[in-house]
Amino acid sequence: MTFVAEEKVVTNKRKSLSALKKIKSDPWGSLKRPTKSVSTAVQETKSEKNSSDSVNQTEAILSSETDSYSNKNGRHKYTCPFYKKIPETGFTVDAFRYGEIPGCTAYILTHFHYDHYCGLTKKFKQPIYCSQITGNLVESKLKVEVQYINRLPMNKPCAVNGVELMLREANHCPGAVIIFMRLPSGRLVLHTGDFRAHPTMEDYPELKNNKINDLYLDTTYCNPDYAFPFQQDVINFAIKIAVKTLADNPKTCIVCGTYTIGKERVFKAVASAINSKVCVKRDKKSILDCLEDEELNKMVTLNPAEATVHVLPMKLLNFNSLSEYLEKHPQFTSILVFEPTGWTHSKKTISLEHVQPKYSRNAITHYGIPYSEHSSFLELKRFVQFLKPTRIIPTVNNGNPASRRKMEDLFAGWLKETEQDTPTKSKQSSLNQWMG
Ligand SMILES: [Zn+2]
Repeated sequence: MTFVAEEKVVTNKRKSLSALKKIKSDPWGSLKRPTKSVSTAVQETKSEKNSSDSVNQTEAILSSETDSYSNKNGRHKYTCPFYKKIPETGFTVDAFRYGEIPGCTAYILTHFHYDHYCGLTKKFKQPIYCSQITGNLVESKLKVEVQYINRLPMNKPCAVNGVELMLREANHCPGAVIIFMRLPSGRLVLHTGDFRAHPTMEDYPELKNNKINDLYLDTTYCNPDYAFPFQQDVINFAIKIAVKTLADNPKTCIVCGTYTIGKERVFKAVASAINSKVCVKRDKKSILDCLEDEELNKMVTLNPAEATVHVLPMKLLNFNSLSEYLEKHPQFTSILVFEPTGWTHSKKTISLEHVQPKYSRNAITHYGIPYSEHSSFLELKRFVQFLKPTRIIPTVNNGNPASRRKMEDLFAGWLKETEQDTPTKSKQSSLNQWMG
């Protein structure tokens, strides 16, 4: 089956019909560049890329197809962009907002965050592949019929439509996976979904012992400005403040902010450290029930009187809502709030010693803590330098030519550094051998 076809595409930024131009490309995500580019900006970026290619043979894929629009039957409709399709397979990744995608035989979902499952509803009748936990959430929250949900094992190779897959923990939210794929042609692909790179990932044999051809990379924080502490350091910081606050006033309610899923480790660790249960609202409990985390389930209660740690939706972490919450729970006389954030623009928050409460008034003290579930810039760099992939396809912030060019330059620089390192290392080892 061939997916090569001529189609009309236009960048997200150029949606007007007058801007539509025909380009010839493989809509299933051929990694070749379009034979005819649609904008000068893309052409400029390509010429710069060619020069960096000659240095390190690595390229970030550029395309005008990002979240493209098609115009079929006079109606506008999103079409699946190339970076969500895995070439040589019928796989798409986190592509549910495009309806039924022609030729797609497996809809992979990396994790249960809305921007990744957007478009997936109980009406969806195509084969979905995901982790056990993500499958539980898709079934329970979205009511997708169970026959369409294929739960894949963690840390164990499995086969889907002739492709070998290996799912590993993404260090993002519960159920989130990075996916290694060995294609029948021998091509090796790693899709990170959303992830926070961690040195333990460098021990995975499939990554350690293989040369990855295509790396689909979560580039959320691919900019040197994005520096934040290790997750465990942030957790220890929150525990220290919680313990001190409770010593000063044992009638303090410790509130941790949460989204649908994500950042569970913060409230779990704080509650464990102070030997408290975790009070959640009913809808949050139904989410936690899907996570297969026995330890957490034992800690959870719906009764506010049973817990010092209370988990509230992020949208309720404002002064008025928190004041109301304190009034409604007279067993407490003050509130300490931890709002896990990603990165904040204040340089002061990069180092934990500089983290101060956002405010502290009328018995409410509110901390924003830099707990990120995406890789920092330096973690991304280390991960890319470890993998040394042939190609890098950014999956985030890729819709804008300037941003793509910036990332591409960064990748080229990182890989050039590793090339320079290699001769030094080999010289060192041969010297050691000779001396030994
Ligand atoms: Zn996510």
